[in-house]
Amino acid sequence: MLITLKEAAEKIKAANKILITAHVQPDGDAIGSTLALMQMLQSLGKSAQIFIDDTVRKNLHALPHFEEIRRPVDGEKFDADLMIVLDTSIDRLGNVKNLTDAPILNIDHHVTNKGEGVELYVETKAAATCEIVFKLARELDATITPEIATCLYTGLATDTGFFQFSNTRAETLAVASELIRCGVSPNFISEQLESKSLAEVRGLSAALNSLKMFYGDKVAGMILDHATAKTFDSTEGFIDEIRVIETVDVAFLITEKAPNFCRVSMRSKGVDVSKIAAKLGGGGHIRAAGCTLKTTLDEAEKILVAAIGEAFNN
Ligand code: AMP
Ligand code: MN
Ligand code: MN
Repeated sequence: MLITLKEAAEKIKAANKILITAHVQPDGDAIGSTLALMQMLQSLGKSAQIFIDDTVRKNLHALPHFEEIRRPVDGEKFDADLMIVLDTSIDRLGNVKNLTDAPILNIDHHVTNKGEGVELYVETKAAATCEIVFKLARELDATITPEIATCLYTGLATDTGFFQFSNTRAETLAVASELIRCGVSPNFISEQLESKSLAEVRGLSAALNSLKMFYGDKVAGMILDHATAKTFDSTEGFIDEIRVIETVDVAFLITEKAPNFCRVSMRSKGVDVSKIAAKLGGGGHIRAAGCTLKTTLDEAEKILVAAIGEAFNN
């Protein structure tokens, strides 16, 4: 069921013991929005605990209060009167879903989120969930400390490709400006986020070596096999290196995270890749989407290239 931001704020005000979570394979927006909300709720005297059922890329570990994030252990239960799900629909929570039977409040910006079975505040124009959490702070009368601002700015920066993607609106920059006023150092955040391990740069080199073009060079794809992918923890930004090819409309990266478990990332300059991703069981935004294919790397490539071809024909 769709609700307003005010209604979302009322539900939060009425709760005392709150579990906060976001999607597996968490990005800067997932971690930034959960950490910001946790600090806001704690400042209002509530108990708030973040659970994320995945590892988090190292670049995000320096965010304020990162060490308070927990990963659920098998069979664990958590006593909560509200579960807040950020930056995703409830199908990408891993085992966090089993931690509590508390009602779910879902706050998100993905067009593919239909809010089935939960109370959802969705704002598809928001560049990041962090942009929505910023507005929520106003509704809750929570002060944006420099630490909270740092978390929110991280989500804005990562989901907009440092304010370069088409989701960057005047409102997005107004929020970023306000966050800098609250104490953010943009250069500190950029340096943290840009830093890569040697294995990651070698991985990028391997990915670029795998480059293949399809459909008259309108589609560019890269693959990373498990042996290479397991040596580092994030492929963030890899796909942007081929998205820039002048003839390319759709770029993809398939990462074999484990045998028969392939992560797909897509970027586009025109085609709605959220529809392609949704067809394959994933989701996302018009110009950035993804899914997981539980097949071999070769099979995943075949399935994805066929689905992209179909989208061109429609
Ligand atoms: P990424 O390529 O991982 O940066 O993801 C691009 C966008 O697609 C993000 O907004 C993700 O939340 C979304 N997305 C990626 N993978 C999935 C998935 N398996 N299911 C739903 N949405 C996804
Ligand atoms: Mn995200
Ligand atoms: Mn997001």
